Amino acid sequence: MPIRILPDTIASQIAAGEVVDRPASVVKELLENAIDAGAEKIEIEVMQAGRRLIQVTDDGSGIPADELALAVSRHATSKLSRAEDLFNIHTLGFRGEALASIGSVSRLTLITNTRQNPVGAKLTMEGGEPAETSSIAAAAGTRVSVEDLFFNLPARLKFLKSDTTENKHITGLVTRYALAYPHIRWSVTQDEKLTFQTTGSGERLEILQALFGPSEAGKLMPVNFEEHHLKVEGHISNLSLTRSNRKDITVFVNGRWVQDPMLTSAVIRAYNTMLMVGRYPVAVLFITLPPELVDVNVHPAKAEVRFRDQDAVFSGVQRAIRRGLLAFTPIPDLNATRLWGRNLPDTGGPSWQQGCFSATDETNKEVIESEAPTSSHFETSQRQPALPGSYLPLLRLVGQVASTYLIAEGPDGLYLIDQHAAHERVLFDQLMAQFDAKSIPSQALLDPVVIELTPEKAGILEEQLDALLNLGFEIEEFGPNAFVVRSVPIVVEKSDPRLAIEAIVTAFEEDETPLMAKAEARVAARVCKRMAVKAGQILSEAEQRNLLLSLESSPSPRTCPHGRPTMIHLSVNLLERQFGRQGAV
Ligand code: ADP
Ligand code: MG
Repeated sequence: MPIRILPDTIASQIAAGEVVDRPASVVKELLENAIDAGAEKIEIEVMQAGRRLIQVTDDGSGIPADELALAVSRHATSKLSRAEDLFNIHTLGFRGEALASIGSVSRLTLITNTRQNPVGAKLTMEGGEPAETSSIAAAAGTRVSVEDLFFNLPARLKFLKSDTTENKHITGLVTRYALAYPHIRWSVTQDEKLTFQTTGSGERLEILQALFGPSEAGKLMPVNFEEHHLKVEGHISNLSLTRSNRKDITVFVNGRWVQDPMLTSAVIRAYNTMLMVGRYPVAVLFITLPPELVDVNVHPAKAEVRFRDQDAVFSGVQRAIRRGLLAFTPIPDLNATRLWGRNLPDTGGPSWQQGCFSATDETNKEVIESEAPTSSHFETSQRQPALPGSYLPLLRLVGQVASTYLIAEGPDGLYLIDQHAAHERVLFDQLMAQFDAKSIPSQALLDPVVIELTPEKAGILEEQLDALLNLGFEIEEFGPNAFVVRSVPIVVEKSDPRLAIEAIVTAFEEDETPLMAKAEARVAARVCKRMAVKAGQILSEAEQRNLLLSLESSPSPRTCPHGRPTMIHLSVNLLERQFGRQGAV
């Protein structure tokens, strides 16, 4: 084919691909425009998760009738005129591309009125072709309606997820912007149901409560930090509120929501050693710094930024969070407060906490400041770094409590063992040892099991088929979205293979175990979690003994593969102190 210049409509559809990839990204561009227009009230309405309709109404400045056609042309913006201004941007928009892009992949209607004019103006655009501007009665402000998104790009439509997922992205987006702009009155209506609303009071905590519920919101602590040009404010979770992934770490830079791995990891690092492996904090942070120190023009959807001095921002964010944590969390671990099922207050000096940890402010600071990764707090505080290779001593089984924990005696005191976590560890170690030795005994199923999955889950499973095969699961595709399981590793032979597969695809959707580099280890961790004995399951004495024996031979018996503790150790020394036998006057 000869080289030729693409027609405008195709060029804008290509450009649109970068800006608009799902309904939520349309919502993002439109609400950013409304914020830039100085709106005090922004209403978002969607039908069928935005496929049918996305409509954003604001009471901002409006667009003059004679500029309306320009607003929907590419590279047309009122927010930037000179190249120098690119490094001094005070608005969310500046690329002049959003409306043109959206208009090229939908049926777009703009109705707008500035405060000066008695009548308003209306413009429609379909698949990139704008019609004439006409006059219409309209309230001051702007209403942008986007109908039949991607009607002319059916391939794009196929990439959209379920309505529930797309709707979740939309509410997730709007609630975050509501947090960043609490003085604006926000509302979201989805399929004619009001799903989110704020009062515009400026109270961030009010919105946090709507977002997380009062109980979780109560576990968020304020951050207020200022250093040189850098300001960091917002809320972070205390140690009793964590997540299995980093999705609830939200960072705004100069009023712009950014998904920057560097900033997210700064937040996580600030919690280093304070949370269990595989657990992540909740954080909503607003970083402000002079616009000339941030380059916002590095990503088409403006979701990433670059900093003039990245290290300063990274360490500033870490300091801000650590300071917040130290101010509000005098005792770094909460495991101990749950001993014997009693809920002791988080702070103060009840005997268990004091006894277990001899926690003084000094030791806490050290624990927090220490950079050494440890697998659980309990061990950190006891100054026993959880080194891999810390085998257990021989244990004497005492019995089972609450059908959930084993009690055992060792030469150095009492062990309370979580049977589920311990079994998870044992299964995982067995499977991984066999994997490392490249000999996984696997058992062919007499009746191969056929499993049907949703397309999304089928996709997840497909990606893991190699890893599964390496672990002894022989699974083949069996028609669209169906699979047949032909053999399973002996270790999990007794369980229903359906459960194992279901566990793999579900867990991969919602969870991540960043510390395990190998795909096989991640898969094995999930399978073992599902296959392990449950809490509440009565075990025979032989089963209890077997579990202890296997745990004794594990090289890292103190945590489950997901990093949760498998056991609590109460030393003789601690028991003596608790009973007043030592140090008693
Ligand atoms: P950008 O926001 O990057 O300038 P857009 O394509 O999103 O580009 O918008 C183009 C122009 O249309 C904006 O610069 C602004 O002048 C005008 N505009 C868009 N939406 C609104 C709105 N809701 N209220 C007032 N003006 C708007
Ligand atoms: Mg814009």
